[in-house]
Amino acid sequence: MRELKDLLRPNIRALSPYSSARDEYSGKEAHVFLDANENPYNKPINRYPDPLQRELKKCLATIKGVQPEQIFLGNGSDEAIDLVYRCFTIPDTDNVVAIEPTYGMYKVCADINGVEYRRVELDEHFQMSAKKMLDSCDEHTKVIWICSPNNPTGNNIKKEEIEFLLDNFDGIVVVDEAYSDFSAKPCFRKTINRYSHLIVLNTMSKAWGCAAIRLGMAFANKEIISVFNKVKYPYNVNLLTQEKAMEMLKTPYEVEKWVKSLVLERDRVIEAFKLLPSCKEVYPTDANFFLARMTDADKIYNYLVENGIIVRNRSRVSLCGNCLRITIGTKPENSQLLGTLRSM
Ligand SMILES: *Cc1c(COP(=O)(O)O)cnc(C)c1O
Repeated sequence: MRELKDLLRPNIRALSPYSSARDEYSGKEAHVFLDANENPYNKPINRYPDPLQRELKKCLATIKGVQPEQIFLGNGSDEAIDLVYRCFTIPDTDNVVAIEPTYGMYKVCADINGVEYRRVELDEHFQMSAKKMLDSCDEHTKVIWICSPNNPTGNNIKKEEIEFLLDNFDGIVVVDEAYSDFSAKPCFRKTINRYSHLIVLNTMSKAWGCAAIRLGMAFANKEIISVFNKVKYPYNVNLLTQEKAMEMLKTPYEVEKWVKSLVLERDRVIEAFKLLPSCKEVYPTDANFFLARMTDADKIYNYLVENGIIVRNRSRVSLCGNCLRITIGTKPENSQLLGTLRSM
């Protein structure tokens, strides 16, 4: 097994991080702060925010069932995705392996960081073969990307296949669980104590209804989290976001209510979709969206746009020919979509 230090990029292993005023003094007892060149007026946004978001992490730790030191918070999950590349991969040398199709940011960040991105196609049920993933790895493979429930297919990736990778791949395994709040299946976040090379991603952007505040999370053992903290921008999560997130975490039952009604609506819309002459197949989903194979995705997409309804045209994505990805909206929104499609 490669150890964490063998997986890190050498410059990151050697990095001494920037030390901000708020890092050097973070106690609460002081009442005169003349250390950070802040303006004393315009409270409360005159002060730099907590670089490690300690209060927010304390709340999140309880809700997510992890330790605060096992949480990284970033400007969306996209920041954590980029950090995985910057911390672990050597440009022009290393590679990563990912399921295909999946979330587009893994590939974009690979391209930005100059890292080879190897795609391994899912099977006809959009399931992953761990063996096929391992066959695509070599000694320069640092990271494996899995998204479960997967975007854009909607399904959970089989637990046993992910476990096989965790047991047999000696690099970093990322499991992006952006949609796990919509799924009844057990999630991998709960297993970070068992797997030292596992990173699990969550976000406030989907079930929590907070895409605008940009708050993403990574869960992993504290050694990995401290590497992320060393490499991230010092004040990567602003005060307004930290405060709004804390406020949201006080009413988790609201989120549960949203999730319940979205899951009910999802089942209703899927049943109605299956009866549409323009729909050939709807794929099983554990997320707040579903993938539907249509007779002519481009034509239907354009027709919906003309009627003021925007869905995601995924027909040019591998294995997704003629597929549209439909996000579940409110009941009236979903009914409008169905009514428009019925009168096509
Ligand atoms: C929407 C989504 C995210 C969320 O990204 P944020 O930057 O946190 O908004 C992450 N992963 C997947 C697979 C997604 O679909």
